[in-house]
Amino acid sequence: MSIRMRAPIRVLPRELAEKIAAGEVVERPASVIKELVENSLDAGATHVRVELEDGGRKRITVLDDGHGIPAEELPLALERHATSKISHFDDLWNLHTMGFRGEALPSIAAVSRFTLESRGVSDHGRRLYLEGGQLRGDDVPETTSPLGGFTAGTLITVEDLFFNVPARLKFLKSKSSEAAHIRELLERIALCNPKTGFTLLSDGRKLFNVAPAAEDARVAKVLETAPSDLETFEAQFEDIRVHGWLDRDGRAPNGRHVYLAVNGRMVRDKLLQQAVLVGLRSRMMEGEYPRAFVAVEVDPADVDVNVHPAKSEVRFRRSRDVFQVLHGALERLSRETKKPFYSASLPTLAAAPLAAPAAPPEVVSAPTSALFPAERVSYKTKEYVAVAIGGLTAAFDTGTPETLSPLATLSPASDAKRADADAGEKASPGFGHLHYIGQLKNTYLLFQDAEGLVVVDQHAAHERVNYERIKDDFIRNGLKAQPLLVSAVVKCKPEDIGLALENADALARLGFEFEAFGDNCLLVRAAPEALAPDRASELFRALLDEIRGSESGQLLSDDPSRLSPKIERILSTSACHASVRAGQALSVQEARGLALTMDRTDSALNCPHGRPASIRLTFSQIEALFKR
Ligand code: ADP
Ligand code: MG
Repeated sequence: MSIRMRAPIRVLPRELAEKIAAGEVVERPASVIKELVENSLDAGATHVRVELEDGGRKRITVLDDGHGIPAEELPLALERHATSKISHFDDLWNLHTMGFRGEALPSIAAVSRFTLESRGVSDHGRRLYLEGGQLRGDDVPETTSPLGGFTAGTLITVEDLFFNVPARLKFLKSKSSEAAHIRELLERIALCNPKTGFTLLSDGRKLFNVAPAAEDARVAKVLETAPSDLETFEAQFEDIRVHGWLDRDGRAPNGRHVYLAVNGRMVRDKLLQQAVLVGLRSRMMEGEYPRAFVAVEVDPADVDVNVHPAKSEVRFRRSRDVFQVLHGALERLSRETKKPFYSASLPTLAAAPLAAPAAPPEVVSAPTSALFPAERVSYKTKEYVAVAIGGLTAAFDTGTPETLSPLATLSPASDAKRADADAGEKASPGFGHLHYIGQLKNTYLLFQDAEGLVVVDQHAAHERVNYERIKDDFIRNGLKAQPLLVSAVVKCKPEDIGLALENADALARLGFEFEAFGDNCLLVRAAPEALAPDRASELFRALLDEIRGSESGQLLSDDPSRLSPKIERILSTSACHASVRAGQALSVQEARGLALTMDRTDSALNCPHGRPASIRLTFSQIEALFKR
């Protein structure tokens, strides 16, 4: 161990101390905007306008029509620990404002060229100019200032952020990445503050614009859905109240579209996030996340907001209760709105009484009502099953006689190839050997063998097959691109154009070729070969969302052969889009072809989302269902 010379203890020079302190609050342009916009909201603004130049590096302005700062107090606003929001420590437990630390303005001023211009209701306004925290100017603003139009308000300009902290500059992401971050931040803030209008401009381009609105209209706008597609939920336990909105059919590729607020403050909170995801689990497939906004209200005395410098995390005194109230509310919502789940677990299925809702409704009860006149339904088991299966095969290829004799082939004495004597669930001789019966609801393929009935989920099975193939292709050479006959115009957010261009190489590896097309469109010229051309734009949009949601703004890591969970998900999305859908009629040849390829695919039993691709119902299980 080397012996280091000890230096004497010294008090840091003020300027250095300021820079270090600023590091806690100001990490990137988005953190500046968070602090400034929160101040605008605390000042009761009904309009907040944010402008960026070069993703906020060169210039950030925030203009609001709040109550402003009286001229004589303006220098105080720039003092560290100077605030108009609290005066006692205990006030922290009864907060009604976003701010309270009195640190934002001095911190931002310490690492930029900073102009603070404000006008109280009863004065002409005042303007202060600082450089690296040093006061350089103090005057009365010109009447042509954007503030001129307001009776009161504040205009803050932050130029050359981190000009005096070059180390910080290196950590900034690309301009589009920072802009995307800022947009997301404003969306989150806008959710909690529907009565305020927000505008975001980046290099003169409008990225986000919402007018003051009713709460549900605002939520719909930010979740990008129609108010009529929102489901609401609420629950209360003692003084813990939760309410929220869920985009009924909306799905996101990551958890970032679960927006959480506690007492009107946007937070990131693992506990609340878990409560939402677990509560909604039965409605989501693996890799799918909900789009929702959840507002939690608790007694301010029961939540500590002073655990994070940027105040984006909180600590609950009764965290278990909060979890349970939220989780319970969402689980109830899932139960109420979801059809009884068709359990693929055979023991449950066999145990279920026929009349109970847990019995497989598609197979057993449909023919009695819709497709069959009641008098034709026989209560003798074999006939019943035969009639049911025969009658339900809408896409049944009647030209193939062997598939048309369910009565005969249902018999265990059938000559279908017998595999293992104890052919359990996994000891299958292969799908290619199964006898095809027909298609159910254009969604399930029915097969039989000597042991019983095999039901294949056509989408899940095809997806599995495609997934393995696509994964192989991707690792070997990248996905092959196929030019689209008609280029697809993908509407997107303006900042997505930059993000897409920055990721052009990665997207090319995934088989996409594209170019910018106007301000908020991308023109996709080629798509992965495996993809049905009409699904190209859908997947491309999902990829953009993935990039936007990623921490690094990068789609692929440097080593393309390393399959991150993200890429696996992209490939599985690709596979999903390239697969036959539920509800799509398949010809006998197609159905058999699928069965054959399933045999050639490893682990064909589950689709990449983890759902089973096929289930087996043995004759004894069928008999048990009929209480024989
Ligand atoms: P905090 O918000 O924690 O009080 P800040 O450093 O963010 O600390 O702001 C210091 C003070 O400056 C605030 O308490 C508030 O009185 C005043 N202030 C800052 N921004 C605005 C604004 N946009 N409108 C009115 N007053 C403001
Ligand atoms: Mg503040």
